[in-house]
Amino acid sequence: MVSIDHDLHIHTGLSPCCTDVNQTLHNIVAVCRDLGLHKIGLSDHAWLRRSTTPADWGPNPRGFKKLAVELAALSPEITVLRGCEADTLAPGRFTIDRKFADTLDYVILATNHFHFRELVEQPVAATPQGIAAHMVRMFLAGVRSGLANIIPHVFMPMGFWEFYEPAVASISDCVFIETFAEAAAHDVAIEITAVYLPPPPGVRRHTWNIDTPLRVLTLAKQAGCRFTFGTDSHALTSLPQILYLAPLLERLELTADDIHPLARTCCS
Ligand SMILES: [Zn+2]
Ligand SMILES: [Zn+2]
Repeated sequence: MVSIDHDLHIHTGLSPCCTDVNQTLHNIVAVCRDLGLHKIGLSDHAWLRRSTTPADWGPNPRGFKKLAVELAALSPEITVLRGCEADTLAPGRFTIDRKFADTLDYVILATNHFHFRELVEQPVAATPQGIAAHMVRMFLAGVRSGLANIIPHVFMPMGFWEFYEPAVASISDCVFIETFAEAAAHDVAIEITAVYLPPPPGVRRHTWNIDTPLRVLTLAKQAGCRFTFGTDSHALTSLPQILYLAPLLERLELTADDIHPLARTCCS
């Protein structure tokens, strides 16, 4: 069984959607250390230009420099990588560029933030097949971008949650293997996220069976992809969810060799 020793998807107050005042660098490091993690990654949303930023947010490249200064002063006891979560707006259009990516340790590149209706290219048809085809196209665009180190919460149609299970079911094993093989060839890691854990009924309007993300991740593994773990935490109380990934990792029969080098620690 692979050890859960890292969380490379953590938001801070630099992300407008992170409103927890306790989600400070100091507190994040303290909680993650207590959870037994050896490496964490900060992955705030990155928006360089107003024209490609959600209307009630704002471009925030300067915030990343400020965060780096705060981090340097913290001298944390665990390895802290400086990353970001950028967006694929459409094939060939992204919220960051190579120059910005080079200022960071890694880039998480989302390819399915379809809930940003005005900014992110939408599926031609809001049907399982239409959404499935769009997810594959956007995923491949992210893989081929030259910007991505990790693709997060893969094949979850954000903003179209009611189509999650039928959309994934409409993609054949063969298409998944071909698609993920390209990610493996580009050395792009696939994230295993706490977002995959089905929300209890009533918490969100839609929930799903764990077998849906499990099938996707199994095929990613078969195609030769390597993985990183992340909670996508926007609040301090979400960080322990990293440990909830254990049953999923066990069913995937992951070994240390399946972990992407970016996420490896002295203990992996
Ligand atoms: Zn995301
Ligand atoms: Zn995120």
